[in-house]
Amino acid sequence: MAHLDRLADLFPDVPRSVLLKADLLRHGARLDTPEAGSRHYHHHDARGQKAGVDPRAHLQGSVQLPGGVHAFITHNANSPYALRSASSGLELTVATEDEGREEIVTAIDPGPRFAWTSARTSRGTPLATLFTPSLGGACGPVAVFLLRHCEFAVAGEECRFCSWVRMGKSVEMRPDVDEMREAFTAITAEQRSVGYLAFSGGSLFNRTKEADAFLDYMRAAREIGARLPATVAAIQALDRADSIRLRDAGFDYVCYSMEVWHERAWPEVLPGKSRSLGRARWMECLQEAVDVFGPGRVLCNFVAGVETAVPDLFRSDAEAAESTLEGMRWCDEHGIYPKYAAWIVSGGARYGDRAAPSLDYLVRVMTGRQALYAESSLPVPETDCQRCLTQSFEADLAVLDPLKYARGQAALHAWHTCHPRAHVNQEP
Ligand code: SF4
Repeated sequence: MAHLDRLADLFPDVPRSVLLKADLLRHGARLDTPEAGSRHYHHHDARGQKAGVDPRAHLQGSVQLPGGVHAFITHNANSPYALRSASSGLELTVATEDEGREEIVTAIDPGPRFAWTSARTSRGTPLATLFTPSLGGACGPVAVFLLRHCEFAVAGEECRFCSWVRMGKSVEMRPDVDEMREAFTAITAEQRSVGYLAFSGGSLFNRTKEADAFLDYMRAAREIGARLPATVAAIQALDRADSIRLRDAGFDYVCYSMEVWHERAWPEVLPGKSRSLGRARWMECLQEAVDVFGPGRVLCNFVAGVETAVPDLFRSDAEAAESTLEGMRWCDEHGIYPKYAAWIVSGGARYGDRAAPSLDYLVRVMTGRQALYAESSLPVPETDCQRCLTQSFEADLAVLDPLKYARGQAALHAWHTCHPRAHVNQEP
């Protein structure tokens, strides 16, 4: 039986491309030979990488599967999947039980690789140190990593799924309006579409100081004079006064991610966030932010599956998935838009040696999240489309099986057209 048939046999209610994407997120793929889409660096550019770390750990990118499904994949030398060059393009293969043999799963398209990521400004600054393609989105979303340091890592308190803090050197950059203008002009000239603009970075125990950096960068981004796409600040949960400062600076959305829901998972998975303000205060800040930004403008991400790696916390996949869905329901009831990203087990993270979440778990979370749309009044944020949701399945399910999965708010969002496909000038 072919690989996709085997997956479909296990989960007949879920489109095959979605199952394949979920399995690829869990396992990654061997990317040694051909490359997927945009190459991402944990620390912003090739020069910033820490010596001694296997450089293949930085091979990440996106691919397009049949049905317009975009998946983010990371290199994993032990994955059963591999990307292979074929005369017609790229193929995805999977190892068979017959040792040393591979079966072709499907032809795939590589995600976009933008020429600007190799270009420099007139002062010689690599554009990729100013902006980064975000998660391989084919609508060309970009991110600004403004705080290149996370205080949680100093005493080993980093989030257990995070590989970012241990992979490279930290350099804090001050925003330079001229350089940002030049870079953003080059990006928009090539891509002609920038799906969203995310501001993100490491955390500080002084959250007001952390917010200061976001304000500096947003001011600089506004000063470049370009029309910005939807903007989001992915930052620790802020007190009301600081949320007001972000709103007044012009952020469209804030994302105060709880990452895991269960009370006992918090200190295990998020020691830094637990010491910084703790789960209860985080939840209060989320609610205060809804007062400031309005319902649906405050986002909260869950790293779906990392809670299954906490020893002795859940007895089954069903219990773990139900916990995360409970968190999503709490968010929805309080005007907070719940997002999720399938946990990718990354080398360099504290949990880099733990087992990936099962396919059963991911199917439970994805279908449970779709069901929640039917009860929700929160619109899907402008930051989300099928081309940029490379680590979750909301858009794929809604587009591929609307009768089952595009209910309520999920039926009202233009998942496939709200961000146009980005153009690529040339392969870098
Ligand atoms: S806050 Fe957590 S996820 Fe973010 S950089 Fe620090 S350790 Fe990594």
